[in-house]
Amino acid sequence: MIGCTACGAEAVVQWRRRADARTEDTVPVYGCADHALSPDAAALLHEAACTGPGKNGACSCTPTDVGTPFEAESPRRMPPGW
Ligand SMILES: [Zn+2]
Ligand SMILES: [Zn+2]
Repeated sequence: MIGCTACGAEAVVQWRRRADARTEDTVPVYGCADHALSPDAAALLHEAACTGPGKNGACSCTPTDVGTPFEAESPRRMPPGW
């Protein structure tokens, strides 16, 4: 299974953030039901310094709209709101 980046529990949502502030490379970030971003936020590209979701599915950065939402990988259980 893929573990949540924040706590290691089974991930149900995936989004992307920049590998570092100077490149366009991105790395996947995974979230369990407790640490998932909102659907709107997960569709955006997050900054390298983003610490992931806090309360209400919001995060600490100002994500970039890259136009194409990233698809979650066949989650078996979706958190509320998905
Ligand atoms: Zn988690
Ligand atoms: Zn973010």
